[in-house]
Amino acid sequence: MDATAARDALTRARSETRELLRSLGAEIDGIVDARRDSNNDDEHDPEGTTLAYERSQADALRVGALARLDEIGGALDRLSAGDYGRCEVCGAAIAEGRLAARPWASRCITHA
Ligand SMILES: [Zn+2]
Repeated sequence: MDATAARDALTRARSETRELLRSLGAEIDGIVDARRDSNNDDEHDPEGTTLAYERSQADALRVGALARLDEIGGALDRLSAGDYGRCEVCGAAIAEGRLAARPWASRCITHA
């Protein structure tokens, strides 16, 4: 993957991840509102339990998306530094197919 294609892919992935974070933020707000509107007695309220579960799922997705943004930022830095596409452990070139699937990958498949 050449630098221009890599930058395009990373920039696109970053926008998509930011969009996901925005929608997750809205979803979490919605869950909080739903909880407020429902019976506050979570422990004995089946709906409260479901909402707590949904909330923890949305939080987990958000944590994953934030980590992805870090990885994308790191990849953009490596691109600027001319180190893009090299494994940070062994220095070998990361396979094209792997970079196509995960343009933010910082390690070869052996060290992933
Ligand atoms: Zn490696």
